[in-house]
Amino acid sequence: MEALHKKIREEGIVLSDQVLKVDAFLNHQIDPALMKAIGDEFARLFADAGVTKIVTIEASGIAPAVMAGLNMGVPVIFARKHQSLTLTENLLSATVYSFTKQVESTVAISPRHLSSDDKVLIIDDFLANGKASQALISIIKQAGATVAGLGIVIEKSFQGGRAELDAQGYRVESLARVESLAGGVVTFK
Ligand code: 5GP
Repeated sequence: MEALHKKIREEGIVLSDQVLKVDAFLNHQIDPALMKAIGDEFARLFADAGVTKIVTIEASGIAPAVMAGLNMGVPVIFARKHQSLTLTENLLSATVYSFTKQVESTVAISPRHLSSDDKVLIIDDFLANGKASQALISIIKQAGATVAGLGIVIEKSFQGGRAELDAQGYRVESLARVESLAGGVVTFK
């Protein structure tokens, strides 16, 4: 997606050979026009997938997921990282090791929002080692629902997440595929 590539080239900051900072438009400050274009592109790519719900993880997945949900006319659920006093029922949950924070945490979704009839599109901001995606897949399976596919804003193709999802047979659509961050330079696939 050219507009996203341009934004990453112009405003992305390479923190290391492994980490790209995009807090100017995705992870802290949000560019609504770009998020709308990203949501529209996910909607176009998954138009034939029979999607009934979108699932993401708080916080950075929410903006692109909501824009996709608006276009597709389906609800958006974000897995919560912190237990809330208002979430009292038995939750569907999975542990996820955070690539950027280097800590393990539990993410959870209320079973009230997912059923075995649902075909779920997973949307997330980054795909690195795939831990976040695998946790969401686990939760969706616990609900007996089907994974329709995964929409990723920025995939770092040099890490293992994409290959694992491909091997598991999931459809993955990434709007930017970063091949390398070596030498402080973003190279796209
Ligand atoms: P994974 O679970 O695939 O290893 O990592 C995905 C999660 O880690 C994303 O939801 C994102 O929040 C975070 N993440 C992974 N790599 C990067 C990165 O290079 N930059 C930023 N800003 N976040 C990342």
